[in-house]
Amino acid sequence: MTGNDLRQKYLDFFVSRDHLLIPSAPLVPENDPTTLFTSSGMQPLVPYLLGQPHPSGKTRLVDSQKSFRAQDIEEVGDNRHTTFFEMLGNWSLGDYFKKEQLPWIFEFLTKEVGLDPHKLYITVFSGDPNNNIPRDDESIKIWKDIFHQHGIDADLVELVTEKKGYEEGMQGGRIFSYNAKKNWWSRSGMPDQMPAGEPGGPDSEIFYDFGTPHDPEFGKHCHPNCDCGRFLEIGNSVFMQYQKQEDGSLKELPNKNVDFGGGLERILAAANNDLDVFKTDLFWPVIEEIEKFSDKKYTDNQATLRVIADHLKAASFMIAENIEPSNKQQGYILRRLLRRAAVKMHQLHGGLTPIPAFEAICHRVIDIYPEYFDSNSDRNKVSIVIGEEMGRFAKTLDKGLRQINTLSPFDLYQTYGFPIEVTEELYSQKGKPLDRDKFNQELQKHQELSRTASKGMFKGGLADHSETVTKYHTATHLLHQALRQVLGDHVHQTGSNITADRLRFDFTHPQALTESEIKEAEVLINEQIKKDLPVTNETMTLKEAKAQDALAFFGEKYGDKVKVYSIGSFSKEVCGGPHVAHTGVIGPIKIYKQESVGSGRRRLYAKLA
Ligand code: ATP
Ligand code: MG
Repeated sequence: MTGNDLRQKYLDFFVSRDHLLIPSAPLVPENDPTTLFTSSGMQPLVPYLLGQPHPSGKTRLVDSQKSFRAQDIEEVGDNRHTTFFEMLGNWSLGDYFKKEQLPWIFEFLTKEVGLDPHKLYITVFSGDPNNNIPRDDESIKIWKDIFHQHGIDADLVELVTEKKGYEEGMQGGRIFSYNAKKNWWSRSGMPDQMPAGEPGGPDSEIFYDFGTPHDPEFGKHCHPNCDCGRFLEIGNSVFMQYQKQEDGSLKELPNKNVDFGGGLERILAAANNDLDVFKTDLFWPVIEEIEKFSDKKYTDNQATLRVIADHLKAASFMIAENIEPSNKQQGYILRRLLRRAAVKMHQLHGGLTPIPAFEAICHRVIDIYPEYFDSNSDRNKVSIVIGEEMGRFAKTLDKGLRQINTLSPFDLYQTYGFPIEVTEELYSQKGKPLDRDKFNQELQKHQELSRTASKGMFKGGLADHSETVTKYHTATHLLHQALRQVLGDHVHQTGSNITADRLRFDFTHPQALTESEIKEAEVLINEQIKKDLPVTNETMTLKEAKAQDALAFFGEKYGDKVKVYSIGSFSKEVCGGPHVAHTGVIGPIKIYKQESVGSGRRRLYAKLA
């Protein structure tokens, strides 16, 4: 089955069930300055899900939405995440509910797409006793019936916390209930965080079972939400069932909505029974073009080819929407995608890439999507933008790469246009840590000087960017100390990276952390946050700092005088700041992922819960 066939089948399926087919909204949201890109099918429909009638007057909608998630950029390279993807969506605006939607989506996946029902696994909401929200028994009952009709046992495995899941594994279950962290949706997040008036509800996710764990470390005790790679999330039905009341309770809404979102590329991968979205025809011609030019095989350079293919695909879609590379907002994201692709290409074949090679790759993207591109004019647009931007970057790329060991990351950025992520990646390939704080400080200084900071960009009720980053910064110190307490004093920071969405922390440790070690560290951090410890700093010489046992960043060069930040008596670390004044403002932290980064080093990701 081709991607275009699959999309059409999906749209037809729901149109024949009375849904209005709506076109994909543009990648750059209209009338929404708070966000740079459309990242889900739901996003352009939020006003209608919140109660405003849809202009068409219809209560059933279907579409395939072009989506871009900058926040997934670091996941690209695996078998399932891309920055650009299409989300198949269907919606009920106060019309049908669970007993229609779940059987429909199952029918679509098994009958139309031909997925083996034995390979589908389900997650549902376990309920939340603290907020008096019951388990989603309605969905459980519907799913059981559906599976029984196919002669498949559908046992429920209750409340799979990650820990329990890893310990007990699949337990022969088919339907798995998880708590609000996994299977609850509202715009504000968890039930506790919802303001009065806001709707929210349980969701139910469908996973495809590829049968083999891809990370044996985890695979032993796998369950649908496990990270080992055996299961692929292909779709999610959100049921907007409740509304928060003034007294904090949740009440059933009289008009309930459904929001379904499923990844086109992932469903296609499942249809091909090949756990790799890049092997689908929505990517493969692009990969082949890169292979052809570089004379390198996909199988030997998977992650690199995936990044190049993903970034140039996303860039092609952006260029077709008239985004131009620049130093701010969408234009800057486009620039970063193009430059990262250029660096990867350079590394792949060991030299500068001729412009026509980039053009050819982007033209393959255009060929794949006749629905979205105007073949002639978009080919031209892409050629012009690629020609200019890649041409300009080519002039400095070679020089920058040659001076990677002598220039600072800031100079590489300033003089040669190397995005910081690119430099960081080049550093990590050499096992060299990069001090993001220092880079950010230099950047800030520079921006203050040239007064170019784009004021007001984060207005509109969103948390101030720098405030979130500061929280993550303090949380990083807590994590560092917590890991030393849980794992031992051999733990040293080897790298750190903070975005508005999460923190990432690299450190020395010989093996993967167990689930319980992760949990222990998380609990320890959250205890310090709850205690609302004061964060203070003192300036002293490095020698004095060391005498006080302050932690110092591995491989960092310090000046004569250093600042030492203390968090209560829990942590003491040499650092330039900035930090929050009291830990309480950080709020709960969740460690959500770990990775290996070369021998003897681990990487953890954590975010505000
Ligand atoms: P994941 O946990 O795998 O990152 P998600 O929880 O972020 O997925 P949702 O926000 O629920 O996913 O999005 C709905 C569907 O969109 C998912 O079930 C998946 O099929 C698809 N999807 C989400 N993110 C991506 C991505 N980066 N690349 C490809 N498909 C995606
Ligand atoms: Mg995701």
